[in-house]
Amino acid sequence: MQDKIILATSPSGPAAQQASWQRQLSNAIRDPAALCTRLGLPEAWLPGASAGHALFDICVPDAFIRRMAHSDPSDPLLRQVLPLGEETVTPSGFVTDPLAEADHQPAKGLIHKYAGRVLLIASPTCAVNCRYCFRRHFPYGDHAPSRAQWQEALDYLRADASLQEAIFSGGDPLAANDRQLAWLVGELAQIPHLKRLRIHTRLPVVIPDRVDDALLDWLESTRLQKVVVLHINHANEINQAVVDACARLKQAGATLLNQSVLLRGVNDSVSALAELSERLFDAGILPYYLHVLDPVQGAAHFDVTDEQARELLADLRNVLPGFLLPRLVREIPGEASKTPL
Ligand code: SF4
Repeated sequence: MQDKIILATSPSGPAAQQASWQRQLSNAIRDPAALCTRLGLPEAWLPGASAGHALFDICVPDAFIRRMAHSDPSDPLLRQVLPLGEETVTPSGFVTDPLAEADHQPAKGLIHKYAGRVLLIASPTCAVNCRYCFRRHFPYGDHAPSRAQWQEALDYLRADASLQEAIFSGGDPLAANDRQLAWLVGELAQIPHLKRLRIHTRLPVVIPDRVDDALLDWLESTRLQKVVVLHINHANEINQAVVDACARLKQAGATLLNQSVLLRGVNDSVSALAELSERLFDAGILPYYLHVLDPVQGAAHFDVTDEQARELLADLRNVLPGFLLPRLVREIPGEASKTPL
C-alpha cells in the first residue's frame, strides 16, 4: 500500500464542529466492496478492485458517486475512481515519478520546475483518489510541513524576486483546512514580488460544498490575483452544485480555468470532449489544457496514443470555436514549459 494519506486535513474538534465538506470527506467510500455494492456492480469486479486498491487506496465521496450511473462499470466518472486489476500491470516506460519531480524540490513542500512560478504542496490529501494520478506514488509523507517548516519554503520565495506566482497543489490544496490556508496565503501576500495565487483543485467538483464562506473569506480578501484551475475530465461531473460553486469562486474574484487528462474509456471521443468544453463554458470555466497521460505506473490502461490524441484535437477543431479548444500538451521532465503535441 503506498503512503498517500486519505483522510482530510481537518480540525481536531468533534464532528459537530467540522464543516459540511469535511464530514462528507470523512464519510467517503474507502473500501472497494462498499463501492461495488453502492453502485450495483457484479461481484466479478471485486477482485480487480481489491488488487488496485492494494496499490493505491480508493477514496470517493458520495457527492461524486451520485453523478454516476447505477450498474454501469463503464460510467465515465466511475472509471476514474474504480481500482482495476490492470493497475498491477507495469509496462516499460510507466514509472513511479513520471515527471521527475524529485529533482526539483528545493525545500519541504516546494516544487520549482518553471521560471517565474513555484508550486507548494499545500495539502498531502485529496477528496478523491483518481486512478490515473501522476502523483499516485508521490511521497506525501515527506511533504507535509508544519508552520515552522513552511518558513524554509517561504524564505525561498522571498529570496527569489523572479517569482511572480505561487501555485497551490497537492494532493488537493483545498483539502487543507481554511485556517491553515488563510495563514499560508497571508504569508505569501506579504512577499512583494508575488502577483498571483494559482490553486489547482478538484474539490469544488468532487464536493461542491467545499466552496463555503470560510474559503471565500480568505480567497476574496487577499491582494493576490486569483486563478483557480479546476480538474474536470467529463461533462457529467458538472452538475448544478458545481455550477453554483464556480459562481461563488468567480464572485470572490477568481479566474476559472480547467485542465483535463485524456483518458481511454472516459473522454477519448470528439463528442465527450466537445460536450465537456460546452459545459465548462456554461459554468463560467475556460478550457485550458488537455494533457496526455503522464506515464505513471498503474495507469497504462488509460493511455491514448499521440496519434489518436492529435486526431481527436483536429476533429474537435471542426466542431468548437477556438476559445473552447483546450491546448493538447504533454509535460516532459526538464522542459521549460508544457510541450504542445
Ligand atoms: S488527480 Fe488531483 S485530485 Fe486526483 S488523486 Fe491526483 S492530485 Fe488528487
